[in-house]
Amino acid sequence: MRGKFYYLCRMSIVRPKKNLGQHFLRDLNIARKITESLLPLTSNVLEIGPGMGVLTGFLLQNKAFKVKAIDIDYESVEYLHGIFPEAVENIIQGDFLKTDTGMFFSEPFSVIGNLPYNISSQIFFRVLENRNSIPQVVCMIQKEVAERISSPAGKKAYGILSVFLQTFYRIEYLFTVNEQVFDPPPKVKSAVIRLIRNDREKLDCNEKLFFRIVKAGFQQRRKTLRNSLKSLLPMGFDSAQLSLRPEQLTVDDFINLCVIIENFNPDRS
Ligand code: SAH
Repeated sequence: MRGKFYYLCRMSIVRPKKNLGQHFLRDLNIARKITESLLPLTSNVLEIGPGMGVLTGFLLQNKAFKVKAIDIDYESVEYLHGIFPEAVENIIQGDFLKTDTGMFFSEPFSVIGNLPYNISSQIFFRVLENRNSIPQVVCMIQKEVAERISSPAGKKAYGILSVFLQTFYRIEYLFTVNEQVFDPPPKVKSAVIRLIRNDREKLDCNEKLFFRIVKAGFQQRRKTLRNSLKSLLPMGFDSAQLSLRPEQLTVDDFINLCVIIENFNPDRS
């Protein structure tokens, strides 16, 4: 087990690059707590953005895990190869957003990471696309985004990403992390959340239509759905839900609305 001093000494080695969202976590207790938040659902674990390896070190200590990590930063990857020589083949340089997830594991895998905040939404969209291979995500993101993702219907924070992710994942807000434990400190607070794949296999309606309805609804969140969904509604279609605003609809309500829109037949009404 490497001592705290060892890790603290390493902190100045990779030059933090703002454009890559690099804020290195310095607090080992928090790092341990994050890695311990992974439930033992899979032995395969993919870390996104290992940076200077503060989570990677704890992950590699757990012999039950098969760990892979991807970072876009060449300097980080070179550094990680130096400190984890046993894992050179599993720590790769690349852009997670552009890498086919089949490249990492052929079996389902959990995702973990202190994510680059500037691309966290894009990372979640990739997770959604690959949801049947990703049963779990434990990640640190901007606190405000964590609140949005975990927000129930009816709250101000509830929005597009909440609905999309809650459609396929159960979301837990685990804990908040202050700015001072990072080097350099970010401007915002952070939070750790856990996403566990729920048992919804397929939607009862066309998925593309569902995504369009949710997006269009929240794009003008102060308007009623009757107004914001105008261009998506078939002629003659009406429903009591259309007098509501988007944040009043639960995931199931959105799915039901999508089903009735899709099955609407003007000749039968
Ligand atoms: N996990 C580390 C670093 C977090 S900073 C820690 O907790 O200290 C975010 C990391 O994500 C950086 O190392 C950055 O280089 C990496 N990163 C940024 N964009 C990325 C991308 N598109 N794909 C993979 N890694 C990325």
